[in-house]
Amino acid sequence: MSTTAYGALNARLAELKDLDAIGGLLAWDQQTMMPALGGAVRAEQMATLAGIAHQRATDPQLGRLIEAAESEVANGSPDDRMTGTVRLARRQWEHSQRVPADLEEALARASALGFDSWVEARAASDFTAFLPSLERMIDLKRRYIDCFDGRPYDILLDDYEEGMTADEVSRIFDRLKAGLVPLIARVRERADAIDDSCLTGDFPADKQKQLMEQIAGKVGFAPGSWRLDPTAHPFAQSLGTTDIRLTTRYNEHDLAMALFGTIHECGHGLYEEGVAADLERTILAGGCSSALHESQSRMWENQFGRSRDFWQYAFPMVRDIFQDQFNQLDAETVYRAANKVMPSLIRVEADEVTYPLHIILRFEIEKELFEGDLQPADLPDVWNAKMRDSLGIDVPNVADGVLQDVHWSEGLFGYFPTYALGTVLAAQIWQRVRTDIPDIENQIATGEWLPLREWAREHLHRFGSTYSPQDTIVRVVGGPIDPNPFLAYVTAKVDALYGV
Ligand code: ZN
Repeated sequence: MSTTAYGALNARLAELKDLDAIGGLLAWDQQTMMPALGGAVRAEQMATLAGIAHQRATDPQLGRLIEAAESEVANGSPDDRMTGTVRLARRQWEHSQRVPADLEEALARASALGFDSWVEARAASDFTAFLPSLERMIDLKRRYIDCFDGRPYDILLDDYEEGMTADEVSRIFDRLKAGLVPLIARVRERADAIDDSCLTGDFPADKQKQLMEQIAGKVGFAPGSWRLDPTAHPFAQSLGTTDIRLTTRYNEHDLAMALFGTIHECGHGLYEEGVAADLERTILAGGCSSALHESQSRMWENQFGRSRDFWQYAFPMVRDIFQDQFNQLDAETVYRAANKVMPSLIRVEADEVTYPLHIILRFEIEKELFEGDLQPADLPDVWNAKMRDSLGIDVPNVADGVLQDVHWSEGLFGYFPTYALGTVLAAQIWQRVRTDIPDIENQIATGEWLPLREWAREHLHRFGSTYSPQDTIVRVVGGPIDPNPFLAYVTAKVDALYGV
């Protein structure tokens, strides 16, 4: 095989994949292990690596190999993997041809420095301390947008959700808003129907860690293939299908944050781990798109972790570790608490119903930043006004307001919509799971969690990025992204819980 252009291309792509994983490792280390003063030199290391990766990715020899492999594939009888490989290699090639090396390096450096600046500014709740690095990042992103043709927000989106457009996102978000706003109003009248106080109290981090490792150890990772570490803004990183780095954060007064956060990151990790082993180090290894990735994390977090069946099984595990808090309670009480609908400040702590409104707010702000005339300095005011408008919440400080998310510090503009798209997809996927595994509820309630992972692996994970995001979505749910199953799912759940 190595005598063919296709074989030689794969060898090149494997090196690029390695460089990408090394960058991922540097980023993981920065956010979990690195001592506080390591940031400046780390930024240079990441910029150097980005420069080397860019040089390799734009090497004319690679371009020739892609062309030769394309004609081999066109003239042969290619399997889906070959077609997918040349498709994605061509896409990445065109992409790196357009972005100059100095801009790639500047973006990598600004991302590492921006992250450090965000951590400090958020700890001090000081937006002006963060503003210079944010402005620098937005300038660089504008330069980046100028490298491509098309509408600015579509260009940003395309990096995370290939083929998705701002107009399509708007159409989906309008339907979400129309369904969720009246539902939230109905619940507001019955806000006292659910008491969630059992999830707040005294939860020492070391005991939480014990619980999270038990749960993560049970969702289906191969032993020895994963680890879990604390961080400021949780994420999952994969260095390969057998090296999954999960992160979480512990709030010693609130169990829900680490609990649902950890299950969420497990969903991401399972997707990366579930990619077929023989795709390792290929361009196709790894989740297909950000929305598809988020469909997995949200499905595990919500349809699984916020289900009555999960709590039936998990309640004794939780009670054994936190006896004082849970000895007098039962699974149903915690299930209800875990599903309380309450407009709140923080996106990652939001319930399933109000969550999409947090995303819609960020989408509107990002569009205004890159397509309108919103100035970065005005972000706190605009943020606060929108929080009041859409969620009825007064923002007490920037740390819990505009500085709550890490994304903008690292230049991840256009990423937020994929969270809500993934949430919507999770409900579509869950419909299929329930049809294919009629016994799924009972399985979850009895601690038999592997069939769910197996289903996801069989229908989604193992393909990695073999197919385009749109094709993958159609393959797994039978049609395009559709908010109706999500709206039906949350409405039925909330109406039952609140006795509407
Ligand atoms: Zn996620």
